[in-house]
Amino acid sequence: MKNVNSKEVSVLVSGPFNEPFDYVLDDENINLSVGQIVLVPFGKRKIVGIIIGDGTKTIPERKLKTILQVYDLKPIPKPSIELMNFLASWYCVFKGLVLKMILSPIEAITSPDYEKVYKSNFINELKEIKITNKHKLVLDFLSNLNNGKTQFDIIKNTGVSKAILKDMVQKHLILERKVFKKVNLYSNFLKNSEKNKKNYEFLNLEQKLAVDRINTSIINSKSDCFLLDGVPGSGKTETYFETVRTCLDQGKQALILLPEIVLTPDWEKRFFEKFSFAPLVWNSEITKKKKKNIWSSALSGSAKVIVGARSALMIPILNLGLVIVDEEHEQAFKQEENIRYNARDMAIYRSKRSSAPIVLASATPSLETFYNAKNGKYIHLTLPKRATGATLPHIKLIDLSASPPEKGKWLSPILVGEIQSKLKNKEQSLLFLNRRGYAPLSICNSCGDKIKCVNCDTWLVEHRSKNILVCHHCGYSRIFENICKKCGVEGQIKACGPGVERIEEEIKETFPQARLIVLSSDTMNNHKILNETVEIIKNNKVDIIIGTQMIAKGHDFPNLKLVGIVDSDVGLSGGDLRASERTFQVLQQVSGRSGRHSKKEGDKGVVLIQTYDSKNPIINAIAKNNRNEFFDKELMSRQYANMPPYGRLASIILSSRLERKLENFSSELLKLAPLFKNVKIFGPAPAPIYFLRGRFRRRFLIKADKNVNIQDVILNWTRKINTPNHVKLTIDIDPFSFM
Ligand code: ADP
Ligand code: ZN
Repeated sequence: MKNVNSKEVSVLVSGPFNEPFDYVLDDENINLSVGQIVLVPFGKRKIVGIIIGDGTKTIPERKLKTILQVYDLKPIPKPSIELMNFLASWYCVFKGLVLKMILSPIEAITSPDYEKVYKSNFINELKEIKITNKHKLVLDFLSNLNNGKTQFDIIKNTGVSKAILKDMVQKHLILERKVFKKVNLYSNFLKNSEKNKKNYEFLNLEQKLAVDRINTSIINSKSDCFLLDGVPGSGKTETYFETVRTCLDQGKQALILLPEIVLTPDWEKRFFEKFSFAPLVWNSEITKKKKKNIWSSALSGSAKVIVGARSALMIPILNLGLVIVDEEHEQAFKQEENIRYNARDMAIYRSKRSSAPIVLASATPSLETFYNAKNGKYIHLTLPKRATGATLPHIKLIDLSASPPEKGKWLSPILVGEIQSKLKNKEQSLLFLNRRGYAPLSICNSCGDKIKCVNCDTWLVEHRSKNILVCHHCGYSRIFENICKKCGVEGQIKACGPGVERIEEEIKETFPQARLIVLSSDTMNNHKILNETVEIIKNNKVDIIIGTQMIAKGHDFPNLKLVGIVDSDVGLSGGDLRASERTFQVLQQVSGRSGRHSKKEGDKGVVLIQTYDSKNPIINAIAKNNRNEFFDKELMSRQYANMPPYGRLASIILSSRLERKLENFSSELLKLAPLFKNVKIFGPAPAPIYFLRGRFRRRFLIKADKNVNIQDVILNWTRKINTPNHVKLTIDIDPFSFM
C-alpha cells in the first residue's frame, strides 16, 4: 500500500461529498498510507473517513484540523477504493456516500475488538528488580519473540494470572500493546487434500472443462469474466464450488454474491459438506456483531469465503481471488433506493481491479450478459444437461380459451386433472402465480369504483386471510369492509382476478384431502419459517404447493413432478424494457423445479402453462424450451429500438408532495435539456405510478448511443439549475424499474 509522505493528508469523509478535506497528523510515530481509516473533526461532529493521498498544501498547516484517531486496522484495499470512485462516477452519486456503504459496520471501526499482546522488554531486563519464578516463566516464554504473544496464549502456556502480567508491565519487565483481534474461523481448511481430488473427480466432463478453464484464470490472476450457463440442476453450484476451492488453495479469498432468497441454510449446509467449514454469511438478518466480525476478518485477510446479498460487494476484502455472482440475471442485484447501483455490474469492475476472475452463473442469463458472451467479451461456459442424469420436464401449453376454468375458478380442467393424477401417485404439484394476497383488484359492483390506495396511484390488494386491503407499493393497509366508500352501497364489493390465496381456496374446494401450503412473502416473512417449510416439502409432508416467485429459485424438491403456471400472461403486459425477458426468466426458473430427479421417460416432470395468448412468442419459446431463439429475437428488437445492450438508458425521477411545484420544476428542467444528435430525452411524463407514498412523480427517460457519456450529459444538464427543497431529483443509470 502506498505510503503518504507528509503529515498533511487529504481525507475523504463518509457523507455527501466528492472532494476530500485536508487534515494534519501530529503523531510522528505513525506511518500513514492511502486507505487508512481515520476519525476526524468535521464541523461540530466527528466522522470516519479514509486517507486518499498527500494534502493539497493549499491551506497553511497551523489552520488545519488534527486527525483525532488513526484506527489500528489495515487500510481499505486499493481495489475497494477504485470501486468507490468508479461506482460514484458511474451512478452520479457522492463518493463519500459510497464510502459510507464500505464502512457500514461502523462499530467494527470505531470499537474494534482488541486484545492485549505482550513482549519482553529486553532493555530493562537486568535492572535490580526481583524476578520471581512466575516472572521467569513468562520471560522465558516470550524470549526470542519479536512480535509478542497474546494474553490468552501466555496464560494458557505458563499458567500465570492476569495480575502477574499487569505487575510485570508496571515493573517494565514486559511491554503491553493492544492490537486488533483477529478472527480466524478456518483452521480446518486443508489445502490440496485427498478429499478435494475426489470432489473434482465426481464432476462430469462439462463441469470439469468449466472448472479447468476458470482455475486457469484464478491461478494466473486473470480478470476474465465467465458466463456459467446451464439449465436448472445442471450442476452450476457444484462447479463453482470447485473453483472456490482453487481460490482457497491459492491462499486467496472468495466472494459469492447471491440473491437473498437463494441464500438458504440448505445452501449453507451444502457448502459445509463440501468444505468442512461454514462460509461467512452476510445478509439483512445478521447481527451487528457478526457483521463486525465478517467485515474485519475480510479486511485482515483471514476470512476465506464470504457469501452474501448485494451489499456484500462493499466489504473491503483484502486479497480477493474470485467472485461468483449466482443467478446473475436477478433484479435483486440492483439497489433501487438511496444509491442506485447494480452489484453484478460493479462486481465485474471490482474483480478486474483485483485481477481476479468472476463467474456469472445462471440458467436464464440476462440479455446483457448473453449479448456479452455472444460477442466474446465474456467467456461462455455451458452445462447442457441435468447433472443427476434427470430428464428435462415435458412442457405443454393450456389454451384457456379452448379449455376454460369453471365459472369463478382459475384452474383449467386439464390442470386439475393432472394435479389429481399426481395426488394419486403420491407426487407433489406446485402452482405458481406471482401475485400475493387474494385478489389484485376490488370493484364496487354498484358504482364501478376501484378501491385505491390513499398514498399511491395503485389498487389495493385484498388479503382475505387477514381481512385487510394492502398497498403493495407503500404498505398502507386497512380493514376490509364490504361497504363502498364512494357510493355507500353494502355487500357489493367484488374481488377481481386471482392471487395465491384465491388459488388456495379453489384447491381446498377441489381437493379437500390434499395437504396444502402457500409460499409468499406474506406467509414466509423470515428465513426461519421459510427454511422449516422447505424441509416440510422435502420430507414429503405436503402434496400441493402454491407459491409466488419466492419458490421459483434454487430449491430442489425431489418429489415435485408437476408445475402449473396459473397465469403466464401476468407481466407480459407491463410494457417495460425487460417485461418479456423477465417473464421468460421466471417461467423457465419455475419450470426447472419439475422432475429434477426423474430419470425415466415415463417418470418425467410435467409443466403446464395456462395462457389466453397461446400464440405469444415468449410463451412458445418456453414451451419449446428454445431459449437462444427467444434471446436472439429479443436482441434483434432491442437493436432495432437502440435499447440496451445496444444503446444506453438513464432516468431522472422527480418527486414532490406539492404537485404544482413539481410541474413547474419539471418544465424548468425541460427548458434546459441539452440538444445532442445521439441523445434523446423523453418526458417529463407522469410516472406509471404517478402518486407514490404521498409524493407526485414525474420521469425523464434519456436514451443515448452507446458511445455517449450519458453521466456527463445528465450532470451538466441538472447542474444548470438548483433543485428546490421540496423536490427530490434522483438519477437512475441503467434503470431496471420504470415505475
Ligand atoms: P445448479 O446449480 O445448476 O442448479 P446444482 O449444482 O445444484 O445445479 O446440482 C443439481 C443437483 O445435481 C444437486 O443435487 C447436485 O448434488 C447434483 N450434481 C451436481 N453435479 C453432479 C455430478 N457431476 N454428478 C451427479 N450429481 C451431480
Ligand atoms: Zn400505497
